[in-house]
Amino acid sequence: MNLFGGIEAGGTKFVCAVGTNPEDLREPYRFGTTSPKETIEKIIKYFKEQNKREKISAIGIGSFGPVDLKKNSSTYGYITSTPKIKWQNTNFYGKIQKTLNVPVGFDTDVNAAALGEHQWGAARDVSDFIYITIGTGIGGGGIINGEFLHGLIHPEMGHIFIPHDTKVDPYEGKCPFHNNCFEGLASGTAIKDRWGKSGEKLGRDHPAWDLEAKYISFAVINYICILSPERIVLGGGVMKQKQLLPMIHERVKSLLNNYIQAPEITDNIEKYIVTPELEDNAGVLGAIALAKGEYGKQ
Ligand SMILES: [Zn+2]
Repeated sequence: MNLFGGIEAGGTKFVCAVGTNPEDLREPYRFGTTSPKETIEKIIKYFKEQNKREKISAIGIGSFGPVDLKKNSSTYGYITSTPKIKWQNTNFYGKIQKTLNVPVGFDTDVNAAALGEHQWGAARDVSDFIYITIGTGIGGGGIINGEFLHGLIHPEMGHIFIPHDTKVDPYEGKCPFHNNCFEGLASGTAIKDRWGKSGEKLGRDHPAWDLEAKYISFAVINYICILSPERIVLGGGVMKQKQLLPMIHERVKSLLNNYIQAPEITDNIEKYIVTPELEDNAGVLGAIALAKGEYGKQ
């Protein structure tokens, strides 16, 4: 069986691993994101060592972004206009591909995580679904008809605008581009900034969670109405607050008010809006799934 490498490239941490599927995930290597030069050197060193033990057939990269996914573009595989200044215009795909000389699959971190959930996790049985991660930032990826939704660039589902009642929540928002977009109001960074301590340190009954469930539900309703997904997977650090998911189920149902006549929502919303089955490995396993897909194209 061919061995694949995966790189989960996050804005705050990277995870590299080799393997073939969730039961065979080896040598996970986690480290904090620093400069592109230092980070890419660490990745290359890791895969060169792994490759000495057993040949790696292809590598997948699920990257924070925005990224250039247009195969015919001169900057394909670059990280482009990211707020992380040092990473702007970084030729990520090219450096990995040229140095390690294997096929490299490249997509956004959330699209990779979506692919992992599609192959092995919570979205195995559907062909049209979205994966949203709510953590330091908010991102969303989509699979439509079993293929990535790319379109113009790629979806940026965290940066949609949702109702913001400033009388209830005077917080101005944290997005460096839009202030009070969804990410600006509901990311883990926004929670910490608004309440003065991180989500993990707020109690389960803190009013933060009711507000958070409200914002996530607004966003989810927009995704449902625009994309008509067959499932919604909600991942990321903020979703580890177990009290949130039932609050979101209730709010989404009540806000939709029986308008969308689908039993998946009206009767079985617990199976419609779910958390990732691959849990913390969704990102790196998704990158391995990307590598497998790229190898299959050769
Ligand atoms: Zn924004």
